[in-house]
Amino acid sequence: MASSNYLINITGIVQGVGFRPFIYKLASSAHLTGWVRNTSHGVDIELNSNRQIVDDFINQINANLPPLARIDAISVKEILETKYDDFQIIMSEPQPGEFLPVSPDVKICPDCTSELLNPADRRYRYPFINCTNCGPRFSIIKDIPYDRPKTTMASFNLCPDCLHEYENPLDRRFHAQPVACPECGPEIWLEENGLIKAKKEDALQQARQMLRSGKILAIKGLGGYHLACDALNHNAVKLLRERKKRSDKPFALMAFSMQQVKMYCHVSEVEEQLLTSYQSPIVLLDVLRGEINTQHLAPGQNRLGIMLAYTPLHLLLTEPGDGFPDLLVMTSGNISDEPIAYQDDDAHNRLSPLADAFLLHNRPIHIRVDDSVMRVERDRQYPLRRARGYAPDPILLQREMPNILACGAELKNTFCLTNKNYAFISHHIGDLENLETLNSFETGISHYQNLFRVNPELLVHDLHPDYLSTQYAYRRATETNIPLIGVQHHHAHLAACLADNQYFKDEPVIGLCLDGTGYGEDGAIWGGEILLGGYQHYERKIHLQYMPLPGGEASIRKPARLALAYLHILGIEWPPYLPSLKAVPEEEIAVLKSQIKHNLNTPQTSSMGRLFDAVSALIGVRQVINYEGQAAIELESCLDPDVTSVYEYNVTDGMIMLADVFQQILEDMKQNCKISQIAAIFHNTIAAMMLDVSLRLKNETQISTIALSGGVWQNHTLLNKTRVLLDKNNFRILVHERVPTNDGGISLGQAVIGAAKFRMES
Ligand code: ZN
Ligand code: ZN
Ligand code: FE
Repeated sequence: MASSNYLINITGIVQGVGFRPFIYKLASSAHLTGWVRNTSHGVDIELNSNRQIVDDFINQINANLPPLARIDAISVKEILETKYDDFQIIMSEPQPGEFLPVSPDVKICPDCTSELLNPADRRYRYPFINCTNCGPRFSIIKDIPYDRPKTTMASFNLCPDCLHEYENPLDRRFHAQPVACPECGPEIWLEENGLIKAKKEDALQQARQMLRSGKILAIKGLGGYHLACDALNHNAVKLLRERKKRSDKPFALMAFSMQQVKMYCHVSEVEEQLLTSYQSPIVLLDVLRGEINTQHLAPGQNRLGIMLAYTPLHLLLTEPGDGFPDLLVMTSGNISDEPIAYQDDDAHNRLSPLADAFLLHNRPIHIRVDDSVMRVERDRQYPLRRARGYAPDPILLQREMPNILACGAELKNTFCLTNKNYAFISHHIGDLENLETLNSFETGISHYQNLFRVNPELLVHDLHPDYLSTQYAYRRATETNIPLIGVQHHHAHLAACLADNQYFKDEPVIGLCLDGTGYGEDGAIWGGEILLGGYQHYERKIHLQYMPLPGGEASIRKPARLALAYLHILGIEWPPYLPSLKAVPEEEIAVLKSQIKHNLNTPQTSSMGRLFDAVSALIGVRQVINYEGQAAIELESCLDPDVTSVYEYNVTDGMIMLADVFQQILEDMKQNCKISQIAAIFHNTIAAMMLDVSLRLKNETQISTIALSGGVWQNHTLLNKTRVLLDKNNFRILVHERVPTNDGGISLGQAVIGAAKFRMES
C-alpha cells in the first residue's frame, strides 16, 4: 500500500496523564515516523504511513490506554505527504479559544507507592513523590496549557536528576509537571505554637507520635487542611468534636489500606473498587457490629465514611506499626460549617485553636477541593459529594450545548459550565451562607471559565430570589447583558437525573422529586413533588399536602416544632405523652400556635424532607438537629428492616393527604409500638406512596420511565424499597450515578434545561 501522511486528533483526558510518552513508545516500537504534540483541544499525532497501519495504530491506542487517560473522540484525516527520520514529541501549539479537559487530582499510583517504600529509591519516604500517572493536578493548576510554570510548582526548580526524568520520553515522569524529589521539591515540617519543631522524616515521626498519644493535628493535604486524630481514642474524638463545635455530624476516617478498613466495616466488591480507585473517595460503609463504637465518630448512625490514604504523605502518616491506630479521623479543617481551610495564613488563624500542632508543607494549594463522598447502591456508585478525584472531569453529554453558566442552588452548591458536549460541573463548593464560600463560588467560576474557555451566552439560576447564587446571576446579567433564565428547583433535579443518565429522548418521564427545600412557582416551599416532564417543560402532577413551617428556619432546626405544627393543622390534638411537647417550652408553643393561626412568618411547604423530620420528632427520635438531615438520618438508622406493613393515606385532587398517616402513627404510639417499628412502617408507606402515584401517572399517560432525584433519595432504605416496588411493576428507573442526587446535582439540571429553552428561543 502506498504511504501517505495522516493527522490523528484525539480529545478527552489526554494531557498530564502520560499520553505522549505512551504514543511515543507505541510509534517507536512499530518503527513509525512522525510526531505527537499537545494542543489546546487535545493531542495531535502525525504519521507517515498507510491507512491500514494507521488504523492498527489507533486500535493499539484504544487497547493500551494509560490508566488515567480517557478518549472522547478520535478523528483521522489524510494530509500532504511529508517524510520524517524518526518519531518525536514536539512542543505544544496553543490554539486560542479552544479548551481541553484538565485532569483531577489523582491518588498515588502503585509504581510511586513501591518507590516510596523502597529504601534503595532516591525518593524513598519522600512525601511528594508523583509521576505522570498520579499526583496533584487540578488543585495546583493556575492556567492552561498544563505546564509547570502554570502550576503552584513553578517556584521549585528541577534538580538535574529530576530534569533528566522530566525530559526523557521513555521515563514515567516525562513531562510530569509536579515532579519533585528530596533534592529539589517541597518539604514537610511540624509546627507547634507557631514554632518549627521538626522537619522532614523527623516531623513525620513526631506527628505520628502525637496522633498515637491522642493529640489533634492540623494537616495540610492535597486540596485543603484536615484535622486528624486517633479514631479509636474516644477522648481524642470527643475533644475534636468540642473544639470543632461539631456535636453530631459524622467524621470521615482514613485508613492505610483495605486490610484496616475490613477490620471494622463490611466492604462489598464494588465498594472496594471505589475505595481503591484513583479518585479515592470517602465511601460510606456499614460497620461490623461490635468491632467499632460509632457513638462519637458518627452518632446515631451505623455507617462510617472511610477513605484510603491517597497521597504519599498520608501513606507515610498512616503506616501501620508501633501501635499506630488503624483508623484516623480525617475531617475537614474548619470550625463547624465554615469552608475547609486551604491557604496557609487562613489555616493558621482558624485552626490554631483547634489543633495541638500543624503538619505543613510548602507546595501551595491553588484551589480548595474537598474529599468526595460516595455510596454504593445496587452495585453502582451513588455520589453524595463530587469533588476531589472527580472534578473538574466534565460530564459527557450526548448533546451539543451552548456556552452556559448554571449557578446551582444554595446548599451543597456546585456550578456548571457547558461547552460542546461537555458539562463542567464544579467541585463541591459548599453552603453559600458565608462570605468565604461565596468567594470560592465566584473565584471558582472565573477559574473554570478560564481553564475551559467558556464565555457564557446564558445564565441559569434557581427561582429562589434570596439564594446568593441567584443574586450572583442577577448581578452578572445586569453587568453584562447576558440573558437569564430561572429554573424551578425540582425541575432542575429531574433534569439533572435525566442528563446524568444520558436520557435525551423527547418523551417526558415521571419525576419523583423528593427533597428538603426548593422554591416553588407559587412561592411556597416545595419538596414532595411528582412531576411529569423533560428538559423544556414540566408539570406538577401530584404533591404532598401543604403544611405550615412556623418560623421558617426555626422549624427546620427544631423538628419538634414541625411535629406539633403538623398535628395542629391537621386538627389532631396533642396527646400529653408526645415527646415533642417536652422539647418545646410553653412560651414557644404559644408563639408557634399564633404564627400558624395568623400565618405569620409561616411558609407553606410540601417538603418530603420536612415530613421525615416531623415524623422523627413525633415518635421521639430527634427533636432538635445539629446538622442538615440529622432527624431523617436517625429515623432511618433506627428502623427495623423486617417490618413490612404500611399506613394508609389518600391522594385527593393531586395532593397526598397526611392526616391518616399521622393518626395511625399516634395510634401505634398509644399501643406502645416500638420506635423501630413505626419508623419502618413510615418508610414502607412512603415507598408504597411512590409506587401508587407512579401507577396513577402511568395509567394516565402510558409513561413508564421514572427519575428519582432530590436529597431525600440519600435515604438508602427508602430508595431501595421504592426501587423494589417499581421494579415489580416494570418501570424503568433512572437514579443518579455521576452527580449527587442532592442539591450538588442541581447545576447540571439547570444547564440542560437552560440549553433546551435557549434552543427553543433562538
Ligand atoms: Zn505515580
Ligand atoms: Zn529533584
Ligand atoms: Fe433540592
